[in-house]
Amino acid sequence: MQSKLHNNIEFLKGVGSKRAEILQKELNIFTWNDLIHHFPFRYVDKSKFYRIEEINEDTQFIQIKGVLKSMQLIGANRKRRLQGTFEDDSGSIDLVWFAKTDWIQKALKTGVEYVVYGKPKKFGRSFSITHPEIKTAGEIVKQNHSLEPVYNTTEKMKKFNLDSKGISRLQMNALEQLNHTELTEILPLDVLDAYKLLSRNKAYHEIHFPNTEESLSKAIFRIKFEELLLIQLRLLRSKINRNIQNKGFVFEKIDNKFQEFYEKYLPFELTGAQKRVLKEIRKDTLSGKQMNRLLQGDVGSGKTIVSLMTMLMAIDNGFQACIMAPTEILAQQHMDGIADLVKAAGIRCALLTGSVKGKTRKQLLLALAEGEIDILIGTHALIEDSVVFKNLGMVVVDEQHRFGVAQRAKLWKKNTQPPHNLVMTATPIPRTLAMTLYGDLDVSIIDELPPGRKPIQTIHRRENSRLAVFGFIDKEIKKGRQVYIVYPLIEESETLDYNHLMDGYESVKRQFPELAISIVHGKMKPADKEYEMKRFVEGKTQIMVATTVIEVGVNVPNASMMVIESAERFGLSQLHQLRGRVGRGAEQSYCVLMTGLKLSNESKARMNIMVETNDGFRIAEEDLRLRGPGDIEGTQQSGIADLRLASLSKDNKILMLAREVATRILNDDPFLDKHENVFLKEYMIAQHQQKGWGRIA
Ligand code: ADP
Ligand code: MG
Repeated sequence: MQSKLHNNIEFLKGVGSKRAEILQKELNIFTWNDLIHHFPFRYVDKSKFYRIEEINEDTQFIQIKGVLKSMQLIGANRKRRLQGTFEDDSGSIDLVWFAKTDWIQKALKTGVEYVVYGKPKKFGRSFSITHPEIKTAGEIVKQNHSLEPVYNTTEKMKKFNLDSKGISRLQMNALEQLNHTELTEILPLDVLDAYKLLSRNKAYHEIHFPNTEESLSKAIFRIKFEELLLIQLRLLRSKINRNIQNKGFVFEKIDNKFQEFYEKYLPFELTGAQKRVLKEIRKDTLSGKQMNRLLQGDVGSGKTIVSLMTMLMAIDNGFQACIMAPTEILAQQHMDGIADLVKAAGIRCALLTGSVKGKTRKQLLLALAEGEIDILIGTHALIEDSVVFKNLGMVVVDEQHRFGVAQRAKLWKKNTQPPHNLVMTATPIPRTLAMTLYGDLDVSIIDELPPGRKPIQTIHRRENSRLAVFGFIDKEIKKGRQVYIVYPLIEESETLDYNHLMDGYESVKRQFPELAISIVHGKMKPADKEYEMKRFVEGKTQIMVATTVIEVGVNVPNASMMVIESAERFGLSQLHQLRGRVGRGAEQSYCVLMTGLKLSNESKARMNIMVETNDGFRIAEEDLRLRGPGDIEGTQQSGIADLRLASLSKDNKILMLAREVATRILNDDPFLDKHENVFLKEYMIAQHQQKGWGRIA
């Protein structure tokens, strides 16, 4: 059945080809369905009148009741404007029109009581409203909706009468034709009953034309719930499908290499959290289902050893394993760390990156295909078609947010039966976000640092304490430590940032003429970058001046201090990631956040959180609260981009409820085949086809 919902917006009463084009361009509205999902961003209470004396520079759209005292045309030709003086008993304000002046002058009468609606702006000493909405006081009384929706529009739209009012008229035209046969209920009746949800049809009417505050908030709840429920259903469905399609290898034995490594070569006692995660993984690899597990753990929490032991489980059962890292340096560090640890146990490791070429590469690929390599460590190079395993059983992806979904999916294809998957991230993700971004993955968390770590001490200093900070750097270096100094480099002001970095580098050189200093930034050739990084890693330089390119994974335990320049320009999560580069050794480490003298309240809040806590999860929660989820990597691929109304930072409770309801529905009816779920299923299929969704974790 072709529903009116999918009609082209052009054919809605009041639109036509020109406005259709504008709605498409400006708001991505192509169909009637798109239109009714363009929700008001706020509502004006039209039962409330402001007094003119209450107006100040922060005043938004308001409604005033008063008398039009006078009107006059000012200026000539194109600069001509009509100006009116409007008064209530508390003061007066100017009303200004630049267009249709003749018509307006005729239509309005001085001495009559009007209600004016608009946003006051300050000009000189007085306030004025340009192109106000104006009605006689009598007309207002007749209106029955007191909550008036306000829609986002653009200047361009306004030229074609598509201001907020204009959009509201279109919503009315659409909803008049889209009654409950079009806006069919999709939720099962018992869910509607259990949570006293408005029907779908009613919810859309109420959100665009609210009758009361209460019915409006019910409409908002219903629509948010539906948005979140659909995402959860989709994620949980894809998990069910995957479990059916992909049988998992069963790793029965762990009595050989795993055992040997655990007993003889493990260099330290595992933390409780590491043991718990390994048990979770063990259970997955025995279940007969494919493992798809996200391992979250703050920087330095010891994810590598967990991934190594996971790979040993595969090896004990005759499989190969691989670990993919986002940069050559990280891959190299894994190689250095892992190969050494397992050499004695007779495990064969190899490193494959873009710089492994020619004969070495050929030999490596041959050995891999023959099964003579147990663990392949590398970068993106691993996913190339020429890389063929004999029998790949376990894939580990480190710092997974650096890879696209498609890249990860390619690794699965390296075996006829897909391998188990462990993806790791040091970017803690708040629960609500994880549930939505990675809702189809099982999640393990390492929430405990290895013993003996001293929490990093973070301090906030302003520009005027620079000398003291230099003194601090000097002290640390005299103790034999190394220091990072990090500068922001953000594209839009690249040249300025670059100069800032170079000035900084020069002043550090002047300050510490006797020291060896590395510099690394994005404009350098990759080979030069690697070279400079390596010098610092090997302790040949004492100070590393860099941009955020050092953010991910680099491990220099001797680095005990990080100075972050212009710290106010970084987001919380990024500050936390950067800070994680220090505090990796046994020494007390420090992080100094340098900022300008004047800070916005939000920047101050960010600095305070950083000074207060080292807890990545708490920081992630605050970050989500301050910035919203939009900036967090990966959100574009998930359903988050489709959330029109629900917010992951604010609608925690509704999300939990949606997850719970989705789980219950699917437990009872995994394929949504029961008659009560039939509309839900149809809707999800249609949605899927429209968006071309298909997501592999
Ligand atoms: P991340 O989770 O950031 O990848 P790593 O795996 O690199 O952390 O571990 C950081 C450091 O902690 C490494 O030097 C590692 O050897 C060490 N480490 C890991 N687990 C333990 C443990 N249980 N006890 C002591 N040190 C540990
Ligand atoms: Mg790591």
